[in-house]
This record gives sequence, structure tokens and C-alpha cells, in this order.
Amino acid sequence: QHEHVLMDGTGMRRALTRIAHEILEKNKGFENCMLIGIRTRGIYLANRIAELILDIENVPAPVGEIDVTRYRDDLSGKQEQNLGLSDESAAMDIHNKKLILFDDVLYTGRTVRAAMDALMDLGRPQMIQLAVLVDRGHRELPIRPDFVGKNIPTSRLETIEVLLNEVDGVDQVMITQQ
Ligand code: 5GP
Ligand code: MG
Repeated sequence: QHEHVLMDGTGMRRALTRIAHEILEKNKGFENCMLIGIRTRGIYLANRIAELILDIENVPAPVGEIDVTRYRDDLSGKQEQNLGLSDESAAMDIHNKKLILFDDVLYTGRTVRAAMDALMDLGRPQMIQLAVLVDRGHRELPIRPDFVGKNIPTSRLETIEVLLNEVDGVDQVMITQQ
């Protein structure tokens, strides 16, 4: 099994700082905007972007979270019984807001589609944008991210490993091939 480091802590900090600036530029500030993290690592990334936006613009950036397991169209059985929305996400007020969805890795696009379905069930956002730390390609749906930390073309046999300080004790992106 081969491993290869593609992004270290400094690289990740720079990429996230750039994305925070890009979000503020595209939305001309952060008015009426909200960050939505998908499941585990998307939530940590959204929280980091919120801190960066506070640093840069001195405005608070609300962060919501979403767990979309139930909505995945290619999951069945046990996984499907997982709750689609946490109590926190069900209580989010997303009506007429500009939502910026966050995930660690974008692959086929099915998770993002599921997240958009779940959000549409909660209310009617004004707009949804997408930010990912890594775009590894292989899309199966017409979904394209607005903000990308790093494009990493992969083969389907390769996996991107995203380690975040909050859960893994280190910030690092690696590509592994079994
Ligand atoms: P998709 O639904 O686009 O096929 O896959 C994206 C979701 O699966 C994301 O939530 C992401 O965390 C996870 N994922 C897919 N491929 C990878 C990968 O190579 N590495 C990691 N860390 N997560 C992946
Ligand atoms: Mg994930």
C-alpha cells in the first residue's frame, strides 16, 4: 500500500484561507449567508472557515450541520435507517439564506445531491454554493463545486485520506492506493 502526502498543515491553512476570501468575494461579504457542514469532516471545515471569516471581515458566520446518510440513493438496508437530519440541523432556519455547503472530498456528487435534497426539505434557501477541500473527480451527477481547496485527479482505486487536527491530531491530505 502506497501513501503520498499531497497537502500538509500549512497547505491546508492556505487553501482554507483562500476559500474564505473567495466566499467573501463572491457573496460581497457574508450577509444572509450560512455555512453548512456535511457529516463529520465537513463540519470541522465549515467551523474553520467561520473562524477565518471572523478574522478577515470581523463578522460572525453561522454554521449548521447536516447528516445525509438517509438520503443517499445508493445506500440500502442498515445504513438507510440512520437519521437523515440531526436535531440541530432540523432546527436550522435556512429560509431565503445563501447556503455554502462544505464537505471534505467530492467524488460522484451523490452525497452533495442528498444534502441538497435534505436542505430543500427543511426550507427554501435563496441559493446553495458548494465548497470542498478536495475534488477527486469521477462525477456521476451534474454537480460542480464553487470553491475547491485542491483538485486531485484520482483513479477509482485510489483513496484520498483527509486528516484533520480536530479528530486526527494532524492536518494532512494523502493519496493511498491499495
Ligand atoms: P460522493 O458522494 O461524491 O461519491 O462521495 C463524497 C462523500 O464520500 C464525502 O462525504 C466524502 O467524505 C466521502 N468520500 C468519497 N471519496 C472519498 C475519498 O477518496 N476520501 C475521503 N476521505 N472521503 C471520500
Ligand atoms: Mg464524508
